[in-house]
Amino acid sequence: MGEMRKDYVLERTVIVSNKTKKSSNDKKCPYCPGNESMTNPSLLSLVAKDGMLQRLQDSEDDFVKNWSVRVFESANPAVSTSAQNSYSDRPLYSEPAYGYHYVVVASSKHSDTLATIDIEQWSNVLVVIQDRLRWLYTQKGVTYVSIFVNHGKEAGSNVDHAHINIVSFSNIPPIIEDESESSHKFLNERGLCPMCQTVTTETGGPRQILQTEGFIAFCPWAPSHQFEFWICPKKHSTSFSKITQKEINDLSLILRSTLGGLLKNSKGASFNLAFHLSPEKKNSKQIHWHIEVYPLTNFWSGLERGYGVFLNGTSPETDAKSLGAASRKELANLVGIE
Ligand SMILES: [Zn+2]
Ligand SMILES: [Zn+2]
Ligand SMILES: [Zn+2]
Repeated sequence: MGEMRKDYVLERTVIVSNKTKKSSNDKKCPYCPGNESMTNPSLLSLVAKDGMLQRLQDSEDDFVKNWSVRVFESANPAVSTSAQNSYSDRPLYSEPAYGYHYVVVASSKHSDTLATIDIEQWSNVLVVIQDRLRWLYTQKGVTYVSIFVNHGKEAGSNVDHAHINIVSFSNIPPIIEDESESSHKFLNERGLCPMCQTVTTETGGPRQILQTEGFIAFCPWAPSHQFEFWICPKKHSTSFSKITQKEINDLSLILRSTLGGLLKNSKGASFNLAFHLSPEKKNSKQIHWHIEVYPLTNFWSGLERGYGVFLNGTSPETDAKSLGAASRKELANLVGIE
């Protein structure tokens, strides 16, 4: 399988794999009910029965039917537990791309998206993700677990059916390392968590989109993308793995409302969504966890690619206004307020 290489001097990380591209003559959606044999067998299929959710799993020749959420190992994994030994030192640094890659299918209906499924379905999806996350951190060789969404071709998805990726790494990804380093430094110098300070700054301000009981959604001060927004717990919390069912329900409400609001504003543009959680190994530096959503309404220019400077054609204040209006409408519809 793949190897994880680093730049000659920078921390930039690249997974290099020689994937044999599968011929995609098959027009059938591998994530739709009835096509379960096109994916790896499920490790978990949630099935509603008599008002309860049963946790079942595929056996070798028998696929669980009537599922509402389905989890299996990716057929096209970014990392693998059978990664070859490929250790080498700088300047040609490499290590095996070791880890687990799971796909969580968020609905049995092909036409559903993460911006249209109901809150209860979102909660079920989040519970399943939280379970996987906790289990992964008990496994050897798991230093960090990433949870992310690729929605649409431009966002790197080759399957057009609502799903979420969970990928583990044997080291901490560069952006998380940066965020936790900077947070730690900020905390040491000023005595408070930078995200707690951000929540105070953004609450009720011109970039706020929506608030629920425990979460706030806002467009960040310096967004790298048009309509970019973040969702974070209002109270200091270091990982999604520790939150309660009640908090999961609350998170579902804000996620569904804001993604619904985004859908209305971006005309269904592709987007990526990433959970930024603290690493859970002992002594690792912590961050106030949050979710970042990057809508892909524009292409990058040479400034972004060549210099890491982002050009943004609209202000986050303008974006927050239209996202806020649409998201509040979604929320009102979801909770049944006219
Ligand atoms: Zn499908
Ligand atoms: Zn905090
Ligand atoms: Zn972040």
